Amino acid sequence: MTRLTSAILGAVAISAAVFAFGAAQAQQGGKLANDPAHQAFPSFKIGEGLYYVGASDYTSYLIVTKAGLIVIDGGDAPTGHQVVQNIRALGFDPKQVKILLNTHEHFDHAAGLAEIRRAAAPDAKFYVSAKDGAIVAAGGRGDPFLKDPRFYYEPVKPDVIVKDGDRVSLGGWTLTAHITPGHTPGCTTWTFPVTVAGKVRQALDHCSSTVLPGYKLGKTETYPGQTADFEKSFATWKSLPCDVFLASHGKFYGMTAKKAALDAGKADAFVDPAGCKAFYAGAEAAFRAELKNQNP
Ligand SMILES: [Zn+2]
Repeated sequence: MTRLTSAILGAVAISAAVFAFGAAQAQQGGKLANDPAHQAFPSFKIGEGLYYVGASDYTSYLIVTKAGLIVIDGGDAPTGHQVVQNIRALGFDPKQVKILLNTHEHFDHAAGLAEIRRAAAPDAKFYVSAKDGAIVAAGGRGDPFLKDPRFYYEPVKPDVIVKDGDRVSLGGWTLTAHITPGHTPGCTTWTFPVTVAGKVRQALDHCSSTVLPGYKLGKTETYPGQTADFEKSFATWKSLPCDVFLASHGKFYGMTAKKAALDAGKADAFVDPAGCKAFYAGAEAAFRAELKNQNP
């Protein structure tokens, strides 16, 4: 491959990535103040002991246990700062964060973890899948698609590697890791029981099932085995209980509309098994259409 071809292919990969994440985010790996996805958002209670502490779209969840706090995802770096402030605003001490979890290694979910750990919770243990953990440990380097340094971030070293079906427990809470790869090689969906509006429900924090523009499926793949990974993950997602539908992006589950309904008095606004089912049906149809499109 000539240097020119390689430069052009690189530019194509970058513009695909820029398109996928939005130009503003891609310019500085999500560090720009005007990224609409990382604007400050008021933290709020979803269920007993479960709080939203993320930004306008990049999500972060706080679980309050009697033995300390659990945080799932840090958003991008600016979101990470907000997560720390949001935990304080709710009246909890960020130094009590004992466990950090991650849905996937992309900067918009993992860059904030370093902020949370450095600013507030140096002793928090980071639990992550082997494949995504290796990429977070390298600050985004090694992602099979986002190879531009603009997507790199401050690394976080994993403390505990989670396998499919592993449980993470603290202070009476237990979260189960489901390794659901495809969007990233070690994408992890988390499930746990939570009481909402007086009833115990099953919460699901969806990793991501998005086929990014530029991903290669079928005969040629972004990473070897990606198509089979997506197939297996859709089967897993459709089999998981999902009463309280949560995800790595607020837009996946209509976070702002549900928050508005909650504010209007609908205590179980985040209980949405039908919405979860519909989301997965749509995501799987989009995956199959793209697979067919690339492999006529
Ligand atoms: Zn992603």
